[in-house]
Amino acid sequence: MNLYPMKLAPAVKEIIWGGDKLKASYHKSAPFDKLAESWELTVRPDGMNVIENGEYTGMTLGEYIEKAGNAVIGEGYDADRFPLLIKFIDARDRLSIQVHPSDDYALANENEFGKTEMWYIVEADEGAELVFGLSGDYTKEAFDKAIAEGTVETLLHRVKVHAGEVYFIPSGLVHAIGAGILICEIQQNSNVTYRVYDYNRPGKDGKPRELHVAKAREVIVNHSPADIEALRFSGKAARTPELLASCDKFTVHKYDIAGERSLTASADSFLSLTFTDGEGEIHYGDEKYAFVKGDTYFIPAGCGKITVASDNAVCIAAQR
Ligand code: ZN
Repeated sequence: MNLYPMKLAPAVKEIIWGGDKLKASYHKSAPFDKLAESWELTVRPDGMNVIENGEYTGMTLGEYIEKAGNAVIGEGYDADRFPLLIKFIDARDRLSIQVHPSDDYALANENEFGKTEMWYIVEADEGAELVFGLSGDYTKEAFDKAIAEGTVETLLHRVKVHAGEVYFIPSGLVHAIGAGILICEIQQNSNVTYRVYDYNRPGKDGKPRELHVAKAREVIVNHSPADIEALRFSGKAARTPELLASCDKFTVHKYDIAGERSLTASADSFLSLTFTDGEGEIHYGDEKYAFVKGDTYFIPAGCGKITVASDNAVCIAAQR
């Protein structure tokens, strides 16, 4: 199988809290109004990318990887599922308060990976905020009391957000996206979410969505306010303007491109490029591949050097 930069058609999702920004400004289309999530890099039964350019046009990314082998994910990668899931999320309304389990817990209880994730804030309305951990010390007793009395909201640590900020969310950290925020989310390829509280809202069918309080209680990690503040800026490595996060699940860079920028998809990992602003071209060998704001390209591991050319692009680059 050949290697080249592959433009991916996303899997789009309608959810009650979704908005219209992805259609209006990020070149997405969907047969419904509340376009909440656009899954930009996804190899899952409930959401699959289709390759939109070149020799393998029309093939799903899953099929391509199956035929090409795990070497296109990265040398030595031996898990039976793709490692990452990358989404645009447009929250017109606030999302439920939730927490994700660790790999150990999720593999034992859900036959899934756990989930550590990272948010890059692409747009935020004036005053928009998100839930980033719990305020004060977490105890199971205080949590139980708040659940019983319907006062979970009083336990939450809220932060005001601005475009360009980064939030690193390890498994076990309670979190929620607030209203008026558009993010690019890089996460482990897992959909195990334990919903703690949903503001007593009705779901699509008019009934409240299911909560998973007992499991959430088991997986919440007590992060101190200082821990939480430190997490905001890093995974394991210190954050720099270009390195947004680095942990054992993923490494994410942000490149502001004005001119040309060389990037490399080494044998170790594929490179996923999601453009949150601007337009331009990816050059690979003699070929040129156009991109606009909102596009995502999968560069198979081993492709080697590519060049991104643009006057004004912002590129979120993720690797395993
Ligand atoms: Zn989450």
